[in-house]
Amino acid sequence: MKDERQTALDELREELGERHVLTGGEVERFGRDWTGKWHAAPVAVVRPADTDEVVRVVRIAARHDLAIVPVGGNTGLVGGTSNEGALMVSLERLTEIAVNPDTATMQVGAGVVLSDIHDRAAHHDLIFPLTFGARGSARVGGFLATNAGGSNVVRYGATRGLVLGLEVVLADGRVLDLMSHLRKDNTGYDLRDLFIGAEGTLGIITAAVLRLAPRPRHHAAALVAVRDLPAALALLRRLQAATDGAVEAFEYMPRAYMAALSEHRPDLRQPFAIHDHTVMIDLGGLSRPLDEALEDALTEAVEAGHVLDAMIAQNEAQRAHVWAMREAAAEITFTRLPIVDSDVALPLDAVARFIPEMEARLARLDDGADHLIVAHLGDGNVHLTIYPTRDEPGHLDAIREMVEDVTVEMRGSISAEHGIGLSKLATLSRRKNPVALDVMRAIKAALDPEHRMNPGKVIPSKP
Ligand SMILES: Cc1cc2nc3c(=O)[nH]c(=O)nc-3n(C[C@H](O)[C@H](O)[C@H](O)COP(=O)(O)OP(=O)(O)OC[C@H]3O[C@@H](n4cnc5c(N)ncnc54)[C@H](O)[C@@H]3O)c2cc1C
Repeated sequence: MKDERQTALDELREELGERHVLTGGEVERFGRDWTGKWHAAPVAVVRPADTDEVVRVVRIAARHDLAIVPVGGNTGLVGGTSNEGALMVSLERLTEIAVNPDTATMQVGAGVVLSDIHDRAAHHDLIFPLTFGARGSARVGGFLATNAGGSNVVRYGATRGLVLGLEVVLADGRVLDLMSHLRKDNTGYDLRDLFIGAEGTLGIITAAVLRLAPRPRHHAAALVAVRDLPAALALLRRLQAATDGAVEAFEYMPRAYMAALSEHRPDLRQPFAIHDHTVMIDLGGLSRPLDEALEDALTEAVEAGHVLDAMIAQNEAQRAHVWAMREAAAEITFTRLPIVDSDVALPLDAVARFIPEMEARLARLDDGADHLIVAHLGDGNVHLTIYPTRDEPGHLDAIREMVEDVTVEMRGSISAEHGIGLSKLATLSRRKNPVALDVMRAIKAALDPEHRMNPGKVIPSKP
């Protein structure tokens, strides 16, 4: 007699075609995440062609009691797609794109890759401003499900603010059509934003309507060594005032980061000696060049003793070079084990206090531990990776708790943009308001009573 899983696979093959139900060696690339930290063997990976096929997949999974894990580019950093024995649903064939320049919107399938969105928007002299290092792999479903942030949040906000509409296949196979192109819609609860950031635990996103922005005609970028973090923030304020808020990226790279960069990426030549504090700046001007404003602001900052060294990009290649220095962060970070990686959001003026406080407490817990910081300083998001000297679960957790303590004491959040997945479940359980956790559990129970959708992620089990 055939077992239940085999029957499910046969039904899936019948619905989608043999080629679109992957098993065995074909699924290996899906079972291993980008960080190399998470491994799991899915029962199969299915590749539906459209929303109707996603519905049929969900119904088959329900009949045969299979857990479902949606997957996009598999570049998430928190173990969000890792689930032993689940059915992975890859949206990579849902790649339709339709741009409406009149409404500055783009309708996309969940499988469209972020860099393709950038290219298509550029054809119409528009931009989709979300950007981060994995833009060549991350897909719509994934960056919506994680409410990704990236380097341009200081000007344009995170994913949630860039989405107008959404289509979701629910756990019971119904299609929730919220594909609005409207800028305003006050008809009851905000269901769209519930699915953005839900990490696939409430349903499968199949399509979205994205909000586009006018393309800045002029860019001015620089790499700048600053005296300290307060000097960096003074420079940020100065630049915002001088350019009517044209700062698109303001990224912090301290000494340890620049040293790791020169070790791992010697091809990314550094224009000046390594200083304690470096920022990468990019300005985007809609109607006027910003080189002069950048130069003037830097000159004033030099005179105030805030800026110690600077390289202003003279052309697009140099601008791409300073961006590459920042975007190498993930590849530099995940080079050693064990690690305790965190992604905290802080009030802007707390970043300068957070780092020394965390360092002092880390020295008490593990004197030999190294750490690496890189930050989207413009929006207060610090990526802190600690490399402890001992790979013991209790020790790693003590370090994690210490980072949480400092973050919470400074009124920050323990997850700024990467989400919860598996890696931050314990943290969420400790730090999220218990009433908020109960509300999250109630929503999950209402939409997915059988816990089929990406089970075990985001919502910690009750103590
Ligand atoms: C080099 C690098 C740089 C990065 N930089 C940043 C950064 O600056 N800012 C930032 O925010 N993030 C960053 N990230 C992580 C970021 O979250 C992901 O790159 C991206 O948002 C995830 O997209 P993905 O398609 O790869 O999703 P996946 O990794 O495939 O999935 C992520 C989560 O979304 C769920 N999911 C996927 N598709 C769907 C769907 N269709 N419906 C419902 N749920 C779905 C998955 O189940 C999983 O829980 C970076 C990652 C890398 C590797």
